[in-house]
Amino acid sequence: MNIQKLIRPNILKLKPYASARDEYKEFTAALTFLDANENPFETGLNRYPDPQQVLLKTRLAEIKGCNYNQLILGNGSDEILDLIFRTFCEPEKENVILLPPTYGMYEVLANLNNVEIIKVPLTTDFQPDISSILEVINSQSKILFLCSPNNPTANSIKKESIEVLIENFKGIVVIDEAYIDFSEFESWVSRLDEFPNLIVIQTLSKAYGLAGVRLGLAIASEEIITVLNSIKPPYNINQLTQETALKRLANLDLVKNQINVIKQERFRVISEIKSIKIIHKIYPSDANFILVKVDDANKRYQQLINQEIVVRNRNKEPLCENCLRLTIGTPEENTKLLTVLKSLI
Ligand code: PMP
Repeated sequence: MNIQKLIRPNILKLKPYASARDEYKEFTAALTFLDANENPFETGLNRYPDPQQVLLKTRLAEIKGCNYNQLILGNGSDEILDLIFRTFCEPEKENVILLPPTYGMYEVLANLNNVEIIKVPLTTDFQPDISSILEVINSQSKILFLCSPNNPTANSIKKESIEVLIENFKGIVVIDEAYIDFSEFESWVSRLDEFPNLIVIQTLSKAYGLAGVRLGLAIASEEIITVLNSIKPPYNINQLTQETALKRLANLDLVKNQINVIKQERFRVISEIKSIKIIHKIYPSDANFILVKVDDANKRYQQLINQEIVVRNRNKEPLCENCLRLTIGTPEENTKLLTVLKSLI
């Protein structure tokens, strides 16, 4: 597969922004920096951050089992999704394939970039409708977005379905693995060598407990990552984010323990919620949230708000009539949710 042919001509021609510091692999205090018009007096943050994020990417490559050159970091994975649109999709000419109900930003970013959207709803068990997808894709279809585990449905997409889709789609396949750390399925990062058109998206906003710092990542072939890195804003990962993330990644046992607690709590919430009358259906979850069908989503959503509990009302989404999406909280928060749900009439 010729990836270069999938890239927009203006991106191929583009000469990336380069700062003097791109020439240094690592910052050393011994250098006298008179290149970037900073204030020279020490505040702890008076210097621009490392534009290549060398230390952070080295650590993440180690954790994710990929090469350093297969990694791009973004100001949240939302930033990387936007970069992917801008790299591959010619506005007003090309299209992307979305499988609703799914993460809302794919549609927002397509509209922002003026790229046509072709929607192929998931089946009733929230799996891709393979034959319909293969039927609608055309020569202008540039990206297929797969979210696994999927938001808001919480289930993962079957491995075999993803294989068929990657093998048959001639554009870029993005697998959004924002919730992979809660999943029983293996990450597709280990399969990147087989699929040159695959981009895997992950984030530190969920299992890693760092939604506040905004750090997302994409892992793909070096060829794709080189292009994405060349068009990213130069200092997109700020100093505080790089430092905070490195600290968090130094203690993976803590992260793993929290993931285990969240998964145990998911099990407890699901088993207790089953007996609550207003809950009509609980969908299988491979993530840190569950989708439930209730008798009247708008009414129950409001009642929960009145009890100071905020959940997500997904009633307006296709296939999600009367559905609420419940994030798994701390054991105390979950107990509060269960108590309030039991009391609703
Ligand atoms: N992908 C999915 C499936 C998500 O649910 C979210 C956040 N809700 C994101 C990506 C964005 O994550 P980030 O915080 O890294 O921008």
